[in-house]
Amino acid sequence: MRVFVTRSLPGEALNRLKERGLEVEVHPGPLLPREELLRKVEGVVGLIPTVEDRIDAPVMDRAKDLKVIACYSVGVDHVDLEAAKARGIRVTHTPGVLTEATADFTLALLLAVARRVVEGVDYAKAGLWKAWHPELLLGLDLEGLTLGLIGMGRIGQAVAQRALAFGMRVVYHARTPKPLPYPFLPLEDLLQEADIVSLHTPLTPETHRLLNRKRLFAMKRGAILLNTARGPLVDTEALVEALKGHLFGAGLDVTDPEPLPPGHPLYALPNAVITPHLGSAGRRTRERMAEVAVENLLAVLEGREPKNPVV
Ligand code: NAP
Repeated sequence: MRVFVTRSLPGEALNRLKERGLEVEVHPGPLLPREELLRKVEGVVGLIPTVEDRIDAPVMDRAKDLKVIACYSVGVDHVDLEAAKARGIRVTHTPGVLTEATADFTLALLLAVARRVVEGVDYAKAGLWKAWHPELLLGLDLEGLTLGLIGMGRIGQAVAQRALAFGMRVVYHARTPKPLPYPFLPLEDLLQEADIVSLHTPLTPETHRLLNRKRLFAMKRGAILLNTARGPLVDTEALVEALKGHLFGAGLDVTDPEPLPPGHPLYALPNAVITPHLGSAGRRTRERMAEVAVENLLAVLEGREPKNPVV
């Protein structure tokens, strides 16, 4: 029985598959061309894809023996869940183990944008640092600002805890109000109140372009946008415009398109801090994600209920 893994993963977790007698093929990366992915899944019983691999009906149809797609991520927008369900293929993901790392990274982006860290680094490296000046690269003081979280699940709540330590006020929007000590606001009210808007919903048909042009410009003048969720939650073209005067800045760990191609207008904006989808990129976190994906995969193949089912 063969398992295909679309990237090499940190840690020892894949050895567990071999110990159970499974044949494991790992594509070291980078991205597999579509044709190769279609060829590689022929005859596999298990697949561990990453967020960049589009696992849709044609892939599933080529993988006639496929029993489980064990995603190496919490987001599952890259998998056609209906197609999997229709074919009796289980889909699992890795919730929880990446919550703290992704929340940490959200704060890293917030500090980078608010206090203009990247501009400061570039300034120093360019040899422009000749003297200390009271008005050099002034940013936003976080204490007392209102953080508006859109999506208040695992990661949203972990970001809220961190924001409190910085003296920020937290408000949130989700599909349903929660028993939490922060005010729930309708989306349009949150956009008007928040000094910082941070996205933490999954990408679904309902959240696609959740921040469209109208909503981006409904944000407070001088506000910050953070996106560590998924790129297509935001209208990129409108965001480029909003960053040229309306917004103070944006911290983007995810983009649309992704990867963001060289020369993209976002790169030219000094107030956009862009990172290559690093939210969960702590070594221990990435090792745990591999362990969870492997455990879910083995559970399905061994006839047990997986711990983190999606379908
Ligand atoms: P989660 O615990 O499932 O929380 C998702 C939240 O989004 C929930 O509060 C949910 O509301 C809300 N939501 C869903 N649909 C919504 C809608 N239409 N309108 C408003 N709110 C909506 O998920 P999580 O573990 O926090 O992860 C969130 C997302 O972060 C993942 O799906 C993934 O795409 C992304 N992520 C990115 C990275 C990265 O590397 N940058 C790492 C990890 C995760 P209800 O509670 O009311 O249902």
